[in-house]
Amino acid sequence: MNRFIQASTVALAMLTTANAAGPIKVITTTQDLAAIVAEVGGDKVTVESIAKGYQDPHFVEAKASFIIKLHSAELLLVVGRDLEVAWLPPLITQSRNARIQPGGAGYLDASQTVRILDVPAGQLTRAMGDVHPSGNPHYWLDPGNGRQIAKAVQAKLADMSRADAPYFAQRYADFDRRLTEGEKRWKSAMAPYKGLKIVTYHRSWTNFADAFGLDVIGYVEPKPGIPPSPGHTLDLQQEMKLKNVKILLVEPYFDMKTPNAMGRDTGAKVLVMPPSVGGVKEITNYIQLFDYDVDLLASAIKQAGTR
Ligand SMILES: [Zn+2]
Repeated sequence: MNRFIQASTVALAMLTTANAAGPIKVITTTQDLAAIVAEVGGDKVTVESIAKGYQDPHFVEAKASFIIKLHSAELLLVVGRDLEVAWLPPLITQSRNARIQPGGAGYLDASQTVRILDVPAGQLTRAMGDVHPSGNPHYWLDPGNGRQIAKAVQAKLADMSRADAPYFAQRYADFDRRLTEGEKRWKSAMAPYKGLKIVTYHRSWTNFADAFGLDVIGYVEPKPGIPPSPGHTLDLQQEMKLKNVKILLVEPYFDMKTPNAMGRDTGAKVLVMPPSVGGVKEITNYIQLFDYDVDLLASAIKQAGTR
């Protein structure tokens, strides 16, 4: 055994001992996951996310300070399905923390137990830069999937700290109850607009549309991750007019030039809607994300006079 490994082993052992007494140190890739960890973990965890909710989660400029934080993390929770593939792997490698490497005891991929949509048929491919080669990674926008993530987090935390298992179970049950109440509220607010045709910039809203009965007929991006092109934009505008699409949803981190021009051409209302906790300062937890978005969208639909 060389001296570096020996030193690391000693450091790791000290870390494990230190952490045994204090809260479990969790790092998540996104604020949505951090919000769910906070719901379940309460004061038995500390949690911090690498990406902020107002950033495009596919393309995060991760600060080097996170390498240090990952080094001492006990649990890393990721969205998976290639969402973080452009920026997370080097951070994990450089953290030199064996626990949080993929497959390690402290690595949890939240996509394992949720409902994934847009799964490509046949061979997986990143052809022409498609950033969704393994199915839609924006699955947290279905509250049912939020429940599944919380359940997986509860099981993991209980595994890591047996003594606190009843505490995590109680917190999960409380979250589940509030989420179920929320689902009733959101579904009834969206019920009058079932089947409403919308267009979105990125393919972020597949699960959201599925949960609340919206029909996404097209995307400003020709493929997920590919910027708009004049030909595609013209075709889409044509289709929007034909199908009387009155709502164009845009995630907060995209350039507004093309969507605004499309709105002027088609008469559709261009609505910037945050797809994540932290997307705007009012959204500080997972339930607020849906309260905010459903309210924003329902008001926009009323204003656009589609029904
Ligand atoms: Zn995406």
